[in-house]
Amino acid sequence: MSMDVYISAEEIEARVKDMAQEITQWIGDDEVLCVANLKGSFMFFADLIRHLRSQKVKVDFIATESYVGTQNSGQVRILKDLQHTCRGEKLLVVEDIVDTGLTLSKVLDHFLTMHCPSEMKVATLLDKPSRRRVEMKADFVGFTIEDAFVVGYGLDYNEYYRNLPYIGILRNTEER
Ligand code: 5GP
Repeated sequence: MSMDVYISAEEIEARVKDMAQEITQWIGDDEVLCVANLKGSFMFFADLIRHLRSQKVKVDFIATESYVGTQNSGQVRILKDLQHTCRGEKLLVVEDIVDTGLTLSKVLDHFLTMHCPSEMKVATLLDKPSRRRVEMKADFVGFTIEDAFVVGYGLDYNEYYRNLPYIGILRNTEER
């Protein structure tokens, strides 16, 4: 197995700052709950949030599970829900990557039915549109990428590589 640097730490930092500016504009003077979908988004989430220039930012976390290795089972489970509801507030869902779209679809359905935000938008670091199985479009996208299995900057392969400061492409993984 080998690793190629695909998106450098410097490129990520610059893009995340730009995204935070766009998101700050959307938030305006309103209260917003920013929700990280764990675990993959933790590093992106921390960097994005620290560049938001809004006053009324709250954070919370959910956890979902959909993959074993690089195999997508098609099943998405919510392992951990929000601590508080966000009824009537703006909600920003922060994802590491939108691949088939199944996870995001499940998460958005869940928030709309269980938490009733006033407005909901999605920020994803990475978007892999060529692999969509359900139509899903994030509002703020860091990088649109090719169909490759990526790791680093929060994303894992069997729980390894999350600590890398860059996004790398892992070659020679099993067939998806
Ligand atoms: P989806 O439900 O859109 O197919 O995938 C959602 C989840 O699958 C992501 O949040 C991420 O955890 C995982 N995933 C999808 N593509 C990749 C990838 O290229 N690399 C890694 N490490 N995880 C991925």
